[in-house]
Amino acid sequence: MSLYLSHPASLDHDTGAHPECADRIVAIEAHLAARNWLGWERALAPAASDDQLALVHPLEHIAAIAAAAAAAGEGRVALDADTVLSAGSERAARHAAGGAIALVDGLLGGGHRVGVSAHRPPGHHACADRAMGFCLFNNVAIAARHALSTHGLSRVAIVDWDVHHGNGTQEIFWTSAEVLFCSIHQMPLYPGSGRREEIGVGPGAGLTVNLPVPPGAGDEIFLSRLVGEVSERVVAFAPELLLVSAGFDAHADDPLAACEVTDDGFHGLGARVGALADGLGIPLGVCLEGGYDTGALARSLVAVMEALTAA
Ligand SMILES: [Zn+2]
Repeated sequence: MSLYLSHPASLDHDTGAHPECADRIVAIEAHLAARNWLGWERALAPAASDDQLALVHPLEHIAAIAAAAAAAGEGRVALDADTVLSAGSERAARHAAGGAIALVDGLLGGGHRVGVSAHRPPGHHACADRAMGFCLFNNVAIAARHALSTHGLSRVAIVDWDVHHGNGTQEIFWTSAEVLFCSIHQMPLYPGSGRREEIGVGPGAGLTVNLPVPPGAGDEIFLSRLVGEVSERVVAFAPELLLVSAGFDAHADDPLAACEVTDDGFHGLGARVGALADGLGIPLGVCLEGGYDTGALARSLVAVMEALTAA
């Protein structure tokens, strides 16, 4: 059985006229509802506790997010040029992190083979001590740390196919021997990091794998990177859990980037990552990141879920 986690708190993170908006989740869930949720089991994500957020973030950062949301009142507070909070943002972010945690629990103890955590705000740009790039807490990083600490795993792999480099996730696991981080992203593009030469240091040396692709890259290039170098590195690492930072802003219709991936391309990425997890005999958890054309986002996430359902 496949598991779909969400929470209505995602709709209360009010960013105003902003590409990372509540309509993204509304579009996804309308598309899924029209398809009877593909037969997936649905569950409400709990809110992450301070202790769970502290798996990645210092308490000062957790308090700063709460303070910014409280200061927003009826309006909004900007932490940087891109990253905006409203009164509901801290609660939304706690459920987004809690969804990623509940996803891991569903996969490692709940009998689910695959699952999706579909929340906002996204997470992969959030560093341990800094919100940025629409992201407040690093959901996928918290999920990985939860799998390692609470479930006692030794190795977790994260594949990030959001069109932007997952700089926060990279920074958090830069020195870690326990997490393999592989990213396919457009370069040049925000946030500017993610060159091939960035490979981690110390015990983490070689466990950061950056595969930048040029503007215009489409299905063939994204699929070849996933089937080729990413799959080889994941198999060699022998993880016990595979997590995906699934952004859909590499889609041809996306307004924030210049890649040309299609709905079918995302179906292919879903099928390949599902086959990768199946080949290793490990569960697969998908965390929503970006994707700013609401129609393309909804169709593409559902295409990934269809591919995982069929696998
Ligand atoms: Zn993105």
